[in-house]
Amino acid sequence: MDTTSHGMRDDEAQEVASQPDQPPTHAYPLALLKGVVIFPGTSATLSIGRERTLEAVKSAYADDKLFVAIAQRDDTVEEPGPEDSFEIGALVEIKQYEEQSEQTVQVSIAGLRRVRVVAWEQRDPFARVTVAPIEEPAFERVAGRALMRHANALFEKLSLLDRRFNVDDVAEALQIGAPGRLADELASRLGGEIAQQQDLLETADPLIRLEKICVSLGNEIEIRELENKIRQKVRHQVDKNQREYYLKEQLRAIQEELGGDQASEVRELRERVTQKQMTEEARVKVSKELDRLERMPAHSAEQVVLRNYIDWMLALPWSERSDDRLDMNFAQKTLDSEHYGLEKVKERIIEFLAVRQLRIMQAQRQAEREGAPANAAALAQAASANKGPILCLIGPPGVGKTSLGRSIAHALGRQFVRISLGGVHDEAEIRGHRRTYVGALPGRIMQAMRSAGVVNPVFLLDEVDKLAADYRGDPAAALLEVLDPEQNNTFSDHYLETPYDLSQVFFICTGNNRYQIPRALADRMDIIELPGYTEEEKVEIGRSFVLPKVLGEHGLTRSQVQAPAAAMRYIISRYTREAGVRGLERQLATICRKAARRIVLNPQARIRVTEKNVEQFLGAPRYLPDRALEIGQVGVATGLAWTANGGALLPVEVVTMPGKGGLIVTGQLGDVMQESARAALSYIRSRAAELDLPESFPSEMDIHIHLPEGAIPKDGPSAGITMALAIISALTRRPVRSDIAMTGEITLRGRVLPIGGLKEKALAAHRVGIRHLIVPQENVKDLAEIPEKIREEIHFTLAETMTDVIRTALLEQREEAPGRGEPAGVEAVAARQRNEPTPPAPDLYPLTEQMEETPPPPLAETPPQPGDSIG
Ligand code: ADP
Repeated sequence: MDTTSHGMRDDEAQEVASQPDQPPTHAYPLALLKGVVIFPGTSATLSIGRERTLEAVKSAYADDKLFVAIAQRDDTVEEPGPEDSFEIGALVEIKQYEEQSEQTVQVSIAGLRRVRVVAWEQRDPFARVTVAPIEEPAFERVAGRALMRHANALFEKLSLLDRRFNVDDVAEALQIGAPGRLADELASRLGGEIAQQQDLLETADPLIRLEKICVSLGNEIEIRELENKIRQKVRHQVDKNQREYYLKEQLRAIQEELGGDQASEVRELRERVTQKQMTEEARVKVSKELDRLERMPAHSAEQVVLRNYIDWMLALPWSERSDDRLDMNFAQKTLDSEHYGLEKVKERIIEFLAVRQLRIMQAQRQAEREGAPANAAALAQAASANKGPILCLIGPPGVGKTSLGRSIAHALGRQFVRISLGGVHDEAEIRGHRRTYVGALPGRIMQAMRSAGVVNPVFLLDEVDKLAADYRGDPAAALLEVLDPEQNNTFSDHYLETPYDLSQVFFICTGNNRYQIPRALADRMDIIELPGYTEEEKVEIGRSFVLPKVLGEHGLTRSQVQAPAAAMRYIISRYTREAGVRGLERQLATICRKAARRIVLNPQARIRVTEKNVEQFLGAPRYLPDRALEIGQVGVATGLAWTANGGALLPVEVVTMPGKGGLIVTGQLGDVMQESARAALSYIRSRAAELDLPESFPSEMDIHIHLPEGAIPKDGPSAGITMALAIISALTRRPVRSDIAMTGEITLRGRVLPIGGLKEKALAAHRVGIRHLIVPQENVKDLAEIPEKIREEIHFTLAETMTDVIRTALLEQREEAPGRGEPAGVEAVAARQRNEPTPPAPDLYPLTEQMEETPPPPLAETPPQPGDSIG
């Protein structure tokens, strides 16, 4: 074994070289320290306050600056004796001495060597002990070096884990290559429990000591690593939560920065969805979309689409409803107070109410029978589901269809909405576009429901007859789903993608022409016709309804502007020609505007409109007054047409000229009318002898038939007898009575076939003052439908054959015009009574009368029958 002790002794010698050689049993002052063990070769700073210790240190400082420092076994003992002190400590030298106050001194000391207490020399005023140095035993150098390297590596590792340690601190000890020094240095740096430190101090063998230090270092490292691990784990957990929170916050901040607080918006929307009473299906759908919205970047195109969708779902009524007023008296009063006449419609509405009242009672009984308490809302809902056919009002413009719809809503206490189907040619207009389309929206039905705000409004579908006129897709089929009570509780709008319940809506349709309503729709409708008003009715409506309404709209009162019946009649006959009263409303509005101006200038003014002063308001009359026509004209006959705007006059002119038997027909006639003209001509040719026609007919003659007002297309067979009569008149030079108008289809054999729209035609004729009509015999059943007032004033000739028409309407050649004196005929006069003296004729043609296409076909109700009764 190599003698390493020598080197050791060198070290020690160096350390203590400056010190006087101490005899092994020299007595030194003793300082018992609390909680600290001083190792040789290390330095420390002590703050000393205990009196005995103070005395000891002071004494040492005054003497050779050396004293013995030993740890106290128990910190809590204030007056420690030998039994409280460890036996081994360090001989230390005072390097710096500083009195901080009377009672405290701060000293920096350097540990010199291990010593064992041999004996206590004195106790007071401070302890003084004799000590013997402890020598380190010799050790194996290689093992020493290996251990030192190991210890250094551990310390390095620890210093990486704990910043309080620094590898430079032990550099010096390493350099010397003394394991004992290194051990002491490390021990003092590591600290720890007193017992453990004392144990190290008492371990004289440097290698064993360093080994112990290595174990401590290993422990410390493990503890630090464990600590770190735990800390990381905790941090990771916190991090995860925080990360999310942090990211969300950041996202929110970014979105806020970009404008619009989407998160709070979504929150608000969610709140609204919770509060809104929707169907479960709709709620699920909206919630899903809300989730998507939340994840979507703000202001993306898709986000806008989603927002719109959610807005729509929230804006639609899902359960909001108004309570129906089931008071039939109130309904009757409301309808009467808002509309004149129209008894049939009003009756129908009252019936509807009655049925519903019964249904509620039935539901109540049912509930009682089943023992379930009758829930008022559920009952109302059961009763309001529309099971019957849809009400459909058909008639010319301005007869009050729309305003009746409004009145029905009033009477029932419901909301009113209306859409016009005129020009709707695309299914998507009814059913909406899918959301994938740019700018998609729900269909018109849903749009109207949104504005209604309740699930049970009165819903007016205007112009259903215009729907099929030019359709693409199939709006009619979509509409069927809307109107059909079997299907409309799950109406599907492409945009909403959720079924919507329309079953509580009270649908009303309106249109001008019942024959143009798509068949499938018409089947489900209860059609009520409003043919138009007579002059008397118009006067009444004008005075009691339209004028007050118009006055109100202009901020005028009844006393400020008055229009007595005579004036009203004058306005109606000289300024309007229509089936309804819309034109009248316009004229009255014009009067009110002018009156308003005068009243503003002179607040006292009272305006009374009379026949004489009406021109001041409305200008010159637009229509001529009824006046007797002198003599009937040759080749001119007055027919009657049916148009969507009501009845209209249809003048027919015929001239003959030298030619080759040609037939020219002009005036925008449809195919049916062209054929009708040929049929008329063929009939005439076959009766040439009977009718006393000129020799030149037909081979040396051309015939030209013209229906003026060529801009308006006309079609239909009902002008047959009119054209025939005009041709015969032109050929025979016998004038046609100009006070007579006629309508009827002609067969080749001269039979007069029935026509449709008699009511409207009669009203139109009456309107222009014609008081004598020739109508087909078979239409006799329709006379009952003509308003009584008109029936009383018009003289009807029922014609079975063309011969009847000729006898009634054709005057003799060069006959004098008949005298005045219209027979106040009431009853329909049969064709046989036709030879009475001709009554005077009023003016023939209205200045303008809008005319439209097809008179309604006579239809299946009155199928044309082959055969000719004249034979
Ligand atoms: P339509 O829908 O048939 O074209 P509107 O309903 O728009 O006609 O009616 C036009 C105007 O005529 C409205 O101001 C309405 O009040 C009035 N009107 C029509 N018929 C009547 C009536 N029988 N009684 C009172 N006012 C009427």
